[in-house]
Amino acid sequence: LDRNPAEPEFHQAVREVLESLGPVVAKHPQYADAAIVQRICEPERQIIFRVPWIDDDGRVRLNRGFRVQFNSALGPYKGGLRFHPSVNLGIVKFLGFEQIFKNSLTGMPIGGGKGGSDFDPKGRSDREVMRFCQSFMTELHRHIGEEVDVPAGDIGVGGREIGYLFGQYKRLSNRYESGAITGKGLTWGGSLVRTEATGYGTVFFADEMLRTRGESFDGKRVVVSGSGNVAIYAIEKVHQLGGTVVACSDSSGYLVDEDGIDLELLKEIKEVRRERVSAYADHRGRLVTNGSIWDVPCDVALPSATQNELPESGAAALIANGCRYVAEGANMPTTPEAMHLLTEAGVAFAPGKAANAGGVATSALEMQQNASRDSWTFEHTERRLAQIMRDIHDRCAETADEYGSPGDYVVGANIAGFLRVADAMVALGVI
Ligand code: NDP
Repeated sequence: LDRNPAEPEFHQAVREVLESLGPVVAKHPQYADAAIVQRICEPERQIIFRVPWIDDDGRVRLNRGFRVQFNSALGPYKGGLRFHPSVNLGIVKFLGFEQIFKNSLTGMPIGGGKGGSDFDPKGRSDREVMRFCQSFMTELHRHIGEEVDVPAGDIGVGGREIGYLFGQYKRLSNRYESGAITGKGLTWGGSLVRTEATGYGTVFFADEMLRTRGESFDGKRVVVSGSGNVAIYAIEKVHQLGGTVVACSDSSGYLVDEDGIDLELLKEIKEVRRERVSAYADHRGRLVTNGSIWDVPCDVALPSATQNELPESGAAALIANGCRYVAEGANMPTTPEAMHLLTEAGVAFAPGKAANAGGVATSALEMQQNASRDSWTFEHTERRLAQIMRDIHDRCAETADEYGSPGDYVVGANIAGFLRVADAMVALGVI
């Protein structure tokens, strides 16, 4: 901790993983000999750079760019880019650290990395976003490539931003290197299902938790926080499986729609018009409330907005109202205290590094299609995603059993994710 002051989110992510690893290190002394735990907590490389750009009034603006290349034992670094004013090195490191274990859990040949900027795309014109993305990529292009490091989207980075980033990469490298970025549009190397993958994958994971306990989504009340990419497609899949999502949110507050969220309206407002949930509320005669979305009674909660959005008080409210399943669509949305409360109360809890791994897994499927110059159908790709999520669920559950914590998906995900990376690191020597 002393080596990385002022990085509380990174400390939180590391502590949560290390707390699970005691029995693993005891069982495999070779990991201690090779200092695997120490090495896995230290990024292989971190790049911090200046991103100057010119706004629509002709003024020079300045942001900071980051790429943390955390671990490449399993394959090229892989992880998204986040554009949000809260981005700093500690946030990028926490996300990069989580990404190592998540990518390992998918079983695919991808290492862990993450990046982003404190740039806020909200309220910026398309031209401003384009100029920012071009400036960001002017530095980043030296550090990425399909065999090196493959970025994708995250908060504030959707199809529009990926387009501008890929365009600038193509221009600077003078190569149509599709595999250098994922989340691309369908006409220029993208994969069907990538847009839906994280939200769908989270629901597939939750569905497997329900199924193995003799239940299903049919007739369940569900609360989904956020209203961005992950939240929208989580809502879509819950509705397809017979559940009803009764609440969603954004950073301005949450709304309840007892008839079930009208997804077409939400997509129009968020994806096309880029407006707040208040526009949805106005249209449907509902209210946006500025309290805690976790006060809304539900059977299943899917936190899908941002880190530490589900605090202890939220967990207590969920438990009091009878919620029995929580699956994290976002990265580390649940605080350690809240997680403890939920698991103590017997709530089945799926950590993000397992439950939201469908996004990066489908990015790896996009890379496969790019490498073979092929494009698969929606049905085929969705079937593969569903199978990957079932496999991750089973791997977490079996590993938790094996290491003496049956039913604990947190322990299962941390240990199963760690083992694959640790074995590769031992095999590759001290590098
Ligand atoms: P989007 O930018 O599409 O949506 C983010 C949503 O969360 C918006 O509704 C936003 O509201 C809300 N939000 C963001 N920051 C805050 C905040 N500080 N307080 C309250 N609400 C906030 O991002 P994604 O849907 O892509 O990402 C959501 C989460 O899922 C993140 O944790 C991300 O790391 C994780 N994730 C995403 C993957 C992907 O494939 N996209 C893959 C795996 C994980 P507002 O618009 O008002 O800011």
